[in-house]
This record gives sequence, C-alpha cells and structure tokens, in this order.
Amino acid sequence: MSNSSLIAPPALVQRDQKHDTAAVQTLDSAHFIHPFTDHADLAAQGAKVIVKADNIHVFDSEGHKMLDAMSGLWCVNAGYARKELADAAYQQMMTLPFYNNFFNTTNVPAVRLAAKLASLAPEVDGRSFRHVFYSSSGSESNDTNVRMVRRYWDLLGQPQRKVIIGRLNGYHGSTMAGASLGGMSGMHAQGDLPIPDIQHIEQPYFAEKARAGESAAEFGVRAARWLEDKILAVGPDRVAAFIGEPVQGAGGVIIPPDTYWPEIQRIVDKYGILLISDEVICAFGRLGHWFAYEKFGYKPDLITFAKGVTSGYVPLGGVMVGDRVAKVLIEQGGEFNHGYTYSGHPVACAVALANIELMEREGLVERVRNDTGPYLAERFEELQAHPLVGAADTCGFVGGITLVKNKATMAAFDADVGVGMICRGHCFKNGLIMRAVGDRMIIAPPLVMTRAQVDELMGLIKLCLDATLDELRSAGKLA
Ligand SMILES: *Cc1c(COP(=O)(O)O)cnc(C)c1O
Repeated sequence: MSNSSLIAPPALVQRDQKHDTAAVQTLDSAHFIHPFTDHADLAAQGAKVIVKADNIHVFDSEGHKMLDAMSGLWCVNAGYARKELADAAYQQMMTLPFYNNFFNTTNVPAVRLAAKLASLAPEVDGRSFRHVFYSSSGSESNDTNVRMVRRYWDLLGQPQRKVIIGRLNGYHGSTMAGASLGGMSGMHAQGDLPIPDIQHIEQPYFAEKARAGESAAEFGVRAARWLEDKILAVGPDRVAAFIGEPVQGAGGVIIPPDTYWPEIQRIVDKYGILLISDEVICAFGRLGHWFAYEKFGYKPDLITFAKGVTSGYVPLGGVMVGDRVAKVLIEQGGEFNHGYTYSGHPVACAVALANIELMEREGLVERVRNDTGPYLAERFEELQAHPLVGAADTCGFVGGITLVKNKATMAAFDADVGVGMICRGHCFKNGLIMRAVGDRMIIAPPLVMTRAQVDELMGLIKLCLDATLDELRSAGKLA
C-alpha cells in the first residue's frame, strides 16, 4: 500500500501565506481521526480549515472571516490573539517548560495559581475552597472526582457509598468516567457505558418536561426531587455524590429554573452526599461570576474546571476541593494514589495566571454580569418575535434558540428535516459560527465582546434565521 503523502508531503502553505485547502483536506482525511466526527461525511465534504483568529473572529483557508459565537468550544473567554497569554507561555517555556509535581516537588506557577483560584472561589456558610488538584482537561478532572469521592467515603469507613448520580443529557467529558457521568445516549451506546455504579436522573428542562399549567418555579422543585427519588431507590447509604452542570452546555444550553439548585442543595444535605459542580463551561466569567455556584446559591464540595481557565490557549483543568473533602483526603488520607504527568504543568499554570490577570484588568466578569450579559439578554428577547423561534433565552454569555415549525402550537419540526443543521449551514455561509443541538441553536461568545459586537452578532443571527425560514418555506416544510 502506498503512503506517498507521508513520504512527500505537499506544501500546505505557500510562501504568500495562501493555503492549499484541497491538499490539507486530502491529508486530513488520510490521517487524522477527529473527535466526534463521522468520517465518511467528513471525507465527502472536506474539513473546514481554520487558519487564524483575532479577537472574536476566526478565518478559514479560503479567506472567509467568521464571528465565532462559540468561543472555539466554550473556552476562548478572553478572545483570540491575546499577546499577554502568548508572552506568559514563552517566558515560562524559557524558564521552566516542565517539571513534575510528584515526589515532593512543586513549581511556582502551579502554587501561585492554586492560591489565586482559592481566592476567587467565594466562601459560602463557612465552607471554602482552599485546595486545587490539577489535570489537563475537563474529562480528566471528572475522572479525578470519581476517584476522590470514592476515596473520601472509604476513608470515612463507608466503602459501600459508591454510586454517583448524574443527569440524562448532561455532559461531563469523554473518558470512561466522564462519559459515564454524562447522560449522552449516543456515547453510552458505544463501549458499554456507563461504568458500574453511575446512575442518572432526568434533566431540569422546563420546555420538555413541564406539566400543563406548571410554573417554572414549581417545575424546578419537582425536577430536583427526582434526585431524592433516585437516592431512595438506590439506597441512601450507597450514594456517594451528585454531579451536575450549573447550566447544561453541550446538552443545548439548558438553564434550570431558579428553584432547582436550592432544592438540590436541601436534598444532598439531607442525605449527606457530596455535591460536584461541573463548571468546565460555567466558571471563569461565562455566567458573570468567577464560579457559577455563586450565581445559583448552592454549596458544592468539589468543582470541576477546565476550558476558560486558560481561555483555551493551552490545556489545563482541575478540581477545586472544598474543606469537607480536603480535610479527610489530606489530613487522614496518606498518599492518594492518583495523578497525571501534567498535573500542575508550569506553562499551563502560567498562562492561566496571565489569563485571570487579563480578565481582572479588563473587568470581563463584571462586564458580563452587569453590562454585556444583560444587553445580550435584552437583544435575545427580540428574537421571540421571529416566526421560527419558539424560545430564546440566555444566562450570562450562553444562549439558546429553539426553532419550531409552528409558533402558535410550539410544534417541533420532524426530525428528518434537520432544521438545526439547515440553520447552521446558513450561519457558516454568512460568516457566523453557531452550534446546533437538535433543533436548538446555541451560542457562548467570547467575554471580550462589546455592545457593538453584540449588535453585529444579533444582526447575523437574524439574517441566518431569515435565510433558514426562506429555505424551509420554499421546501414546503413549514406548518
Ligand atoms: C467540555 C466539558 C467537559 C470535558 O472537558 P474536556 O476538556 O473536553 O475533557 C466536562 N464537563 C463539561 C461541563 C464540559 O462542558
């Protein structure tokens, strides 16, 4: 079998910085297995080749400029091409590019970042977060959570407490434990997941699960009580922890009613189980706070973070370990036989410190909370009038738009229409990156966005909704 592309790779970038898109696509489909991708489809279409980015825009190899309303993948909070972050990486690489933190060694950026993160996590009712365990991703961090939670209960003499409860349509990553904690049916269907002792309850999605006449507040309490039902079904002395995203991201930006999290807190307190807040998307300003539990008023024992901590410039993740767990794990635990080569990677930690410094200097968290976040919400309200839009809601700098076939009856499109993908196609064509989750179009824009750029975004969204409407109308797909 010939493998000529390996022996003589074609010039992918010419001297004048023009890209040979077809050559990149050919090499791509010959050698690169992509995450979450149907490769027959990819080979037929050819991958979109992203070559550079600046502020809130990305550029492809054909010179198209696109407004990136997804912040890469929910992570480029500080926007693209931030010199401060590149400088921090360069300086740290030239000073100490790597050293491990096993066997009683440490490095300065990892220590400084741990202290900084501890100072950013607000104390609630005397419970604080003084400790951090590092990884390189959200998935790894949730694997750490599973091991840490089980170790905690073992140390307390309750080794039968193994069961961790997550939610259907929740997302906690793609490793064995991450995919198991998450509730994505497509992921569970491949590779015999979930692993043992992971259970799921329904998601708190009002539009899908509310009863006729039920208020959002009533629904929020009822949805939280599904956790209590599950705890009782499993046996309260077997349940170790509950894990949830403050606002579900990958599931389609599902924003729970305000009553949901306080009721979850009441239930985990009643049964003494640990609460894990997976804030991989929601922390670092995404919802207008450094950590999202503050917004919803609950008290997690463990917080998963990743993505926004470095604005995605380099991989870094971790777990904020609250006092309750830290006390047992650190004071009584002896050695915790767990760690990653890159736990506390000096370059990743240096970039995270520079990122947090930049966000503080520019007041990005406060801007999202008090200015641009409310402005985005206000502009999203206007979308409710659009004939295709059944619902449009935001929380801080995430938002979702539900596309419906009939506004009056809220009837959904038939699945074979693929309305989300049609809309996404128009977005790409018109220079806007929005993601489709079923019939819901979702956004998570960079936090550096100004009001004027929110207007630019809304103009593009309206244009793409109109184009989608036109296409559906001429295809006779509307009710
Ligand atoms: C993205 C995500 C993860 C997984 O993070 P990776 O860095 O992709 O492993 C976990 N939890 C949530 C809530 C996420 O959005």
